[in-house]
Amino acid sequence: MSEEKKVVTPEPLIQADDLCKFFQLSRKATLKAVNHVTFNVNKGETVGLVGESGCGKSTTGRCLVNLYTPTSGHVYYKGRDIQTFSKEERMKFHSDVQMIFQNPYASLNPRMTVGEIVTEGMKLHHSKLSSAECQQKAEALLARVGLNKEHMNRFSHEFSGGQRQRIGIARALSVDPEFIVCDEPISALDVSIQAQVINMLKKLQQELGLTYLFIAHDLSVVKYISDRVIVMYLGTIVEEAPADELYAHPVHPYTQALLSAIPVADPRVTKAKKRIVIKGEIPSPINPKECCQFTDRCPYATDRCREEVPVRKEIEAGHFVSCHLH
Ligand code: SF4
Repeated sequence: MSEEKKVVTPEPLIQADDLCKFFQLSRKATLKAVNHVTFNVNKGETVGLVGESGCGKSTTGRCLVNLYTPTSGHVYYKGRDIQTFSKEERMKFHSDVQMIFQNPYASLNPRMTVGEIVTEGMKLHHSKLSSAECQQKAEALLARVGLNKEHMNRFSHEFSGGQRQRIGIARALSVDPEFIVCDEPISALDVSIQAQVINMLKKLQQELGLTYLFIAHDLSVVKYISDRVIVMYLGTIVEEAPADELYAHPVHPYTQALLSAIPVADPRVTKAKKRIVIKGEIPSPINPKECCQFTDRCPYATDRCREEVPVRKEIEAGHFVSCHLH
């Protein structure tokens, strides 16, 4: 995979501000999927959002694209709260922001041809385009993602997982978006295909000036695509830093453990690397305690960690951590 770095001007395109998404399961049980999360994604950059399954990263992504309404807090797009948008602004927002889903098998309608899937959004959001223009645009998009116009009349079940994800990417691009939430777009694919899809997403970003939130459950995947990385644990952000800084100097015990689990090709490095094993399973996000959420699994936990929520601190320019050790 290519590792060249791009220059990003820090101009927030989309921001999560003290965002919460809770699900009331019963009178006494509240699932706090996203619990006071604040971050921004600057125009033209890729932010990796990483954490174990169930940590709230997909729910965060869904709040950003307005698939979920936040319980509290705000999502700002180009400086405006999306909940205050007029009907027309909401329509424009829904073409400006798109989502690529994890499961390319379930996210495409099996009764629609590839041409219908890719032109559906265009017809809704670009109603001035004629059918012929939609057709032409869809063919160009398929070529851009490595498919061809002969695929237009076929159905999604006729394609491999990698090809289906390419169709999903063409569908997201069909409405000329600015921001795309890529929700674990490669985790259901063969390892041999994963690098191809990541490189394609990087190329599309350069060509079309896209901004990505790239969700993944493991830090090795986001390394090659992210400018900044945010680590989530049980609905909260525990660490955020420019990608190079995070991989070189992780400071939160959870990030350190995640990074120590990444296999390294060089056996000398593997030998020198100390593996930090996290105890137990991720706890339930139902009625979480008011404390550091990592307490039960952290090797450094103290009484303070069990009683007090750690405050987010900036320890280096752009490097934030929420841990009482810092
Ligand atoms: Fe561990 Fe305490 Fe830091 Fe939480 S606040 S990560 S329990 S040391």
